[in-house]
Amino acid sequence: MGELGLLGANLQGYGCAGVSDVAGALITRAVERVDSGYRSGMSVQSSLVMGGIHEFGSEEQKERYLPDMAKGKLLGAFGLTEPNHGSDPGSMETTAREHPTKKGCYLLKGSKTWITNSPIADVLLVWAKLQETGKIRGFLVDRKDCPAGTLETPKISNKTGLRASITGMIHLEDCPVPKENMFPGVEGLKGPFACLNSARYGISLGVMGALEDCLARARTYALERKQFKGNSLAKYQLIQKKLADAATDISYGVLASIQVGRLKEQGKATPEMISMVKRQNCDRALWNARVLQEIFGGNAVSDEYGIGRHVANLYVTQTYEGQSDIHSLILGRAITGVQAFV
Ligand SMILES: Cc1cc2nc3c(=O)[nH]c(=O)nc-3n(C[C@H](O)[C@H](O)[C@H](O)COP(=O)(O)OP(=O)(O)OC[C@H]3O[C@@H](n4cnc5c(N)ncnc54)[C@H](O)[C@@H]3O)c2cc1C
Repeated sequence: MGELGLLGANLQGYGCAGVSDVAGALITRAVERVDSGYRSGMSVQSSLVMGGIHEFGSEEQKERYLPDMAKGKLLGAFGLTEPNHGSDPGSMETTAREHPTKKGCYLLKGSKTWITNSPIADVLLVWAKLQETGKIRGFLVDRKDCPAGTLETPKISNKTGLRASITGMIHLEDCPVPKENMFPGVEGLKGPFACLNSARYGISLGVMGALEDCLARARTYALERKQFKGNSLAKYQLIQKKLADAATDISYGVLASIQVGRLKEQGKATPEMISMVKRQNCDRALWNARVLQEIFGGNAVSDEYGIGRHVANLYVTQTYEGQSDIHSLILGRAITGVQAFV
């Protein structure tokens, strides 16, 4: 991916390809057609970590990390979710306190879980609360600089979805991080939410790629599989309806995302627009993939047909980066002016 210029493709400068937001999302669609796990690894690197550094990092941080991340020589992870706080990251327990003796250094303490790339990441963007003020800040935890025993990133094994992507935890035990590794430009949830906004936009087109692959596989299978008097499954109307529903949701979903991307390029996209396409496209991709799976009958259970893999992956895409119901609440708040989260 680094050699092809796919990492941080829509970022300007620092060795990144500098393509448009829509083109960047079309890359996610093409990659996710293969597998949502590949797209997840790519999105975390590109939108969550490189995008965060690009938007909020110091010039020195950008030059230190972005060119090598664009080439895929350095891998990033984004640590927001904690064992006790997923949909509600504002309640995070991870803290950063000033080192009692070493000036200009913070000690990070806490745990993050379900973190894509964490077991193999070189640089971990960790969101933590400053102990003195309670304000959330972003820290670039550079693995090679962490003393033994202060950073652990165990792998979460035996996942039922997104198996092509490595996922783990981040344990920080008074891990020393120099102040120059803290994002200077942002505090509060604005930082992680801005990174998520950009990744969520990519997911909205990405999942359409996964559903396109499901549709292509189901169509081929329906044409080849014969039942009742030697007819192909494709001859039957109930099968055709399933294919028609999926094709329709793909067309609507792709067009809606592209339109939001065009507005994003003009600085006119609101977070609610991105919530809307992330929620709708993830929900429709999962729903249609589950229905298309039925066309394969018992064979759907075999890995060989790929459909079950997409269904399991699409459950994850509907869950991470704001579960669909959380995006409903974001939209509901915009419609009514009433906050339903708490
Ligand atoms: C494979 C994988 C990779 C991931 N990668 C990353 C990563 O790289 N970085 C990272 O930080 N996180 C990552 N995540 C974590 C992901 O973002 C969280 O799982 C997600 O935000 C949901 O949080 P949770 O699992 O704690 O669920 P919870 O917050 O416990 O929610 C459980 C259910 O309750 C619902 N719910 C919660 N609150 C409300 C409410 N107020 N009203 C109505 N319903 C509610 C939710 O919608 C959900 O259906 C990953 C997760 C997975 C599975």
